[in-house]
Amino acid sequence: MDMTLQISRSLVDQINSETMRSRLEVCGLLLGQRSQVEAIAPCANVHTTPATHFELDPAALFRALRAARGGGSRVIGHYHSHPSGDALPSITDAASAPPDGAFWLIAASSDLTAWRAVHDGAVHGRFDPVTLAIAP
Ligand SMILES: [Zn+2]
Repeated sequence: MDMTLQISRSLVDQINSETMRSRLEVCGLLLGQRSQVEAIAPCANVHTTPATHFELDPAALFRALRAARGGGSRVIGHYHSHPSGDALPSITDAASAPPDGAFWLIAASSDLTAWRAVHDGAVHGRFDPVTLAIAP
């Protein structure tokens, strides 16, 4: 299993600047192939307490999954921010993560970390760390 996630510097900068602008958790989809992020799709955070939780707008997720079936980029994971925490998965994240192999990017301040949701993960029993390979 490839535990490296490829992403471009410009996409990292986009996620970090979206994170820095908001006191609420921001979130969005990672679109691409296998372990390569080709694009991000910022989504509304529709959680009722968005300062400390996130829930991807289901309509945006539905649109992305439909586009993938039509030959577009696949949804390989998502990103969200911890505006007042660190860039590590929370217990809440682990509780809401199905062990489906999806990539999770977590942003805090200017930190960005990558994880994969798996059975028996190293963190909270759900997440394995992933190396983020940032292309210039
Ligand atoms: Zn979180």
